[in-house]
Amino acid sequence: MGLGWYGPSSFSIDVPIPTDERGLVGRRCPACLRYFKLKLGTGLPTETCHCPYCGYVANISEFTTPEQEEYVRSVGMREAQERILKPMMRRFGESLKGIERATSRGPIQIRVEVRDQWRSIPLALYREREVETDVTCQECGLQFAVYGVFATCPDCTGMNASAVFHKSMEAARRRLSLLDGDLDSEMVEGLLSDALGSAVGAFDAVGKELCRRFPGPLPSTPRNLFQNIEALSAALGKATGSSLAEAVGEERYANLARMFQVRHVYEHNLGVVDADAIKKVPDLAAWRGRKYVLARREIEAFLQSLNEAYDGVVRLLEAASFEAGKPTQHGASSAASREPPSAPGAET
Ligand SMILES: [Zn+2]
Ligand SMILES: [Zn+2]
Repeated sequence: MGLGWYGPSSFSIDVPIPTDERGLVGRRCPACLRYFKLKLGTGLPTETCHCPYCGYVANISEFTTPEQEEYVRSVGMREAQERILKPMMRRFGESLKGIERATSRGPIQIRVEVRDQWRSIPLALYREREVETDVTCQECGLQFAVYGVFATCPDCTGMNASAVFHKSMEAARRRLSLLDGDLDSEMVEGLLSDALGSAVGAFDAVGKELCRRFPGPLPSTPRNLFQNIEALSAALGKATGSSLAEAVGEERYANLARMFQVRHVYEHNLGVVDADAIKKVPDLAAWRGRKYVLARREIEAFLQSLNEAYDGVVRLLEAASFEAGKPTQHGASSAASREPPSAPGAET
């Protein structure tokens, strides 16, 4: 006697993937296997997902994590138990009861006891991981979270580097407001040189990211290209036809070069202007052999200039890579609206 007719032989269900407490759902890139999270319903109406780390492109459903697959499988198994196994065994039990009834007056009596007790299949529950940086894409509004600081948007592939850089400039500027208090000159100097150092540090960090994103126009040496404003300006001139000096204007560029040099002597020479510094920036000659005294207004102007320099650099690089016929950084949307990712339940 076959058992197949006791219940449906297959079914399919949609299993919504649980989110973390802030509504983000974990994703794992099938190519580089790295983990990130995103909030469904934000960003572009697309089912196409770009890995924020390696750029691999595929349908969003391919980015399911192993824990989510395990969870979906367990939901499928439980459903199979409910929809197929239980009704099947119940009917089977009833047919055995039929045998009991049929034999109740015969010479051999068969007694059947049917117990309908089931242990539920446990769900493979899991927790999404904590990652380091929350990002809201400035281009398309997607909310996502990544390891590290810099990444591209999984929806529109826009860079969050710009947002991160501008945010750190803003933080440096806000720190300067501490100078409004009653401070001795040493503390003032400390705060100003801190702001200068952290601004150059942020520019250097975002620069390394740009070098990674635009390997064509930007040379691999010197390694700290974005700490060396003259080398950066020259490299841009060579690759894009427009130097940084041309992009931001001679006066602003001269101020940037001067402050980069001042930062250098603060970093390596306790702020004392030496012959090397003067060779690079001749108008520092007035400070020869003395400690350069930082002024708040000067640092504020520097932060502003650095913001504009960054935007200028990105503009030049994007134009250069567009010229080179590379795919643009933006776009990649489809008309399909994004549904929560769901995986079909186990086909049984
Ligand atoms: Zn990847
Ligand atoms: Zn985006």
